[in-house]
Amino acid sequence: MQYEIPPFFIFYWSVMRGHIPILFAVLIWSFILVGCSVHENDTLPLKGRVIAIEAGHEPSLPGQPCHTNGGGVGTSSFNGAERLTYPGNPLACPNGAVPEHALTEDIGRKLKRLIETAGGKTVWTRLDEIEATPEGRERNLKARAEKANKAEADVLIDIHANGSSSPADSGYLLIIHCTGVDSIHEGNTPLPIDSSGCYPDRTSEKFTKSLELARKIDYRLAQLSYNGRRITKKGEIYGADLWVPGTARMPTVLVEVGFMTDRHDMDLLAEEEYRRMLTRAFYQAVVDYFAGEPK
Ligand SMILES: [Zn+2]
Repeated sequence: MQYEIPPFFIFYWSVMRGHIPILFAVLIWSFILVGCSVHENDTLPLKGRVIAIEAGHEPSLPGQPCHTNGGGVGTSSFNGAERLTYPGNPLACPNGAVPEHALTEDIGRKLKRLIETAGGKTVWTRLDEIEATPEGRERNLKARAEKANKAEADVLIDIHANGSSSPADSGYLLIIHCTGVDSIHEGNTPLPIDSSGCYPDRTSEKFTKSLELARKIDYRLAQLSYNGRRITKKGEIYGADLWVPGTARMPTVLVEVGFMTDRHDMDLLAEEEYRRMLTRAFYQAVVDYFAGEPK
């Protein structure tokens, strides 16, 4: 909030004319306005918080068809499933397919703006350089998480969109880090956190806080309705041994926002207004999470 000409003008006028009561009134007015502005600053819900945003994947390598998979170098496997197309969509490739990296970037950028408007600091973890080899991918993904570590982010939100050859697969999915007997890495199937084969360190603060953040995100996503249309949750909260959530030291949640191979999910994700609401839900979840956290 800002106060500009009127108080100063009246102040000057009342001093010149010797109108003491008006002078007092103007002084009190100014104190109230300054008080409001200080108060407003103090109540910015994310002031003092650092939120790392990982917009999953990156643009395709030169020469790689835009639609071959979700994220160019990323391994969102569609296993031959036909890609849905949205010709003319601002996020679509020339062939009409909306790539995962474009979706996650759009959602991530929107989230970044909301968080910063609420006084939070953000760390953008996506890297420009791309190494297409498996070792290069591992290095890339770990380097992204290291960016969040270096910035001492309080939480990391890792945004992805899913794909499957099975028409039955739809819904959003929340994944936190766990290690399994058979270590699984990005591209493999995550497991419900309570199932055998997924062994998170349940005593660690990272695990408990990641779970808490995942539940806050789940709560907000479950309420998200766009003209009565919604993306439902797929299963419970999952665990997986993935490079980014595994390397990050802070509470981290990977969110698959829906299946890009499911017509219902993808029709929603392709809409700007839905993505705006989705981002708002993430933002609210982050605010909910920090509301119970000491600074
Ligand atoms: Zn992905």
